[in-house]
Amino acid sequence: MNSTTVSSPPITLPALPYDQNALQPVISANLLGFHYGKHHKTYVDTLNKLIAGTEFADMPLEQIIKAAAGQSDHVAIFNNAAQAWNHTFYWRSLKPKGGGEPPAALKRLMESSFGSVEACKKELSTAAVGQFGSGWAWLIQDGEKLKVVKTGNANTPLTQGVRVLLTIDVWEHAYYLDYQNRRADHVNAVLDKLANWEFAAENLGRK
Ligand code: MN
Repeated sequence: MNSTTVSSPPITLPALPYDQNALQPVISANLLGFHYGKHHKTYVDTLNKLIAGTEFADMPLEQIIKAAAGQSDHVAIFNNAAQAWNHTFYWRSLKPKGGGEPPAALKRLMESSFGSVEACKKELSTAAVGQFGSGWAWLIQDGEKLKVVKTGNANTPLTQGVRVLLTIDVWEHAYYLDYQNRRADHVNAVLDKLANWEFAAENLGRK
């Protein structure tokens, strides 16, 4: 038996897909260090403590989220599992020198669903800025349509049977160190300069 496998926790914190300073100046290395190294890591560590010895212990992360969703006796497991997943998806939704022109297939769907790429970005921005309190704004694919939705706290469209393309974290910890109360400035800079449209396009469902 492989002792490394036995001793490692069931859910691991994935490495960031870029260096901690790679999203500057939109997101500082200081902010990213706290957000990834403290907040995201704590969700993963807490989840591993909560699931130890339970029926969730051997499940992949997505299965934990779906199994715990809506279960009043598993609220903490759901919250930490969903936050672990949401953050990993969020890091991949960003990239250095992002923004710009989306790949053709995604651009076509943005145009047919919202009218234009700019209109899609505007709807994402409005959802992100308008989310009351902590939460997330999402670009999702529902059948042939792209839609923008927002979720509160740890909630994720993953539990709703839709395909998730891209997300923006609008918890205060995602921007406060750099932008204080100016959430809109942060969100618009992320959309214009960091949005990883290639990642969003890779998440599109194939016909
Ligand atoms: Mn966060």
